Amino acid sequence: MTDQAYKYLFGPVPSRRLGRSLGVDIVPLKTCTQNCIYCQLGKDAPQTLDRTDYVPISDVLDELTRKIEEGLTADTITISGSGEPTLHAGLSDLIDGIHRLTDIPVAVITNSTLMYRADVRDDCAKADIVLPSLDAADAETFEAMNHPHPNLCFAEWVGGLKLFSKQFSGKLWLEVFFCDGVNTNDESVTKFKDLIEQLKPDKVQINTSVRPTVHSVAARVPEDKLHAIAEKLGDHVEVIADFSRLDGQTEFSASEEGILAMLSRRPCSLEGICDGMGLNRNVVQKIIARLLETSKIIAEEKKQETYYKIP
Ligand code: SF4
Repeated sequence: MTDQAYKYLFGPVPSRRLGRSLGVDIVPLKTCTQNCIYCQLGKDAPQTLDRTDYVPISDVLDELTRKIEEGLTADTITISGSGEPTLHAGLSDLIDGIHRLTDIPVAVITNSTLMYRADVRDDCAKADIVLPSLDAADAETFEAMNHPHPNLCFAEWVGGLKLFSKQFSGKLWLEVFFCDGVNTNDESVTKFKDLIEQLKPDKVQINTSVRPTVHSVAARVPEDKLHAIAEKLGDHVEVIADFSRLDGQTEFSASEEGILAMLSRRPCSLEGICDGMGLNRNVVQKIIARLLETSKIIAEEKKQETYYKIP
């Protein structure tokens, strides 16, 4: 069976933070509580707080069973993908199911906005590694950076994250994403330092956009400035932005617009798009499906491979 047969799994792919990581995607493309200015999954999608069964967890676990039977080797199984995974009401069943199938540690990448809910904290606490995002240290920056659902409140979000950090016995790796001029001033950095001291994560990893984003305000923080911020934030803070990608980086973002721009130059296969944009296959597959449905692109068979192009 090839990767093509997998609907919910992608990889394993090399991850800077998690080694060889098998991705598990349990929500439809851009199903999220926020609309961050640096999001690579498209802009202006409606946010949601509906915690529901977006995809059948039994189907996800069936795929994982097949993947393991094929001889899966991975450092982590990472629940993330094309939106906010804690929106799936079956997260607890999924993590339990993965633990029954394999000893590979389970990681959850989350924007952590639903941590104000006890059920979400309890579900995430079943994972081995949780990687929550914290891109704002005050309510005003939360609005500017993350464009959260109107019913989300900064104080509740941070309060939930604090409760989770006390409850969780696994590894807590906090990610802070910086956009120059939005959350990088001295006052903001001081507030982050204070919050980090309260949350006591095992690691803090700081990042910035090394690929173009859909919003021009999501400006990249220069490398030396990001390192200076890391120093101010204290020990155990690691810069994870891969500035080497700036050399010859793709000029496209992971949005519909990005893929359309790429295809307007030349027809590409799925692999060509993924490689050219440095994106996971699962996300690109979903965007392509949407572009085909809306007739913005067409598929063409060439030498037993499918190429996509603008009609
Ligand atoms: S949390 Fe992630 S998926 Fe959601 S809007 Fe922000 S970057 Fe995009």
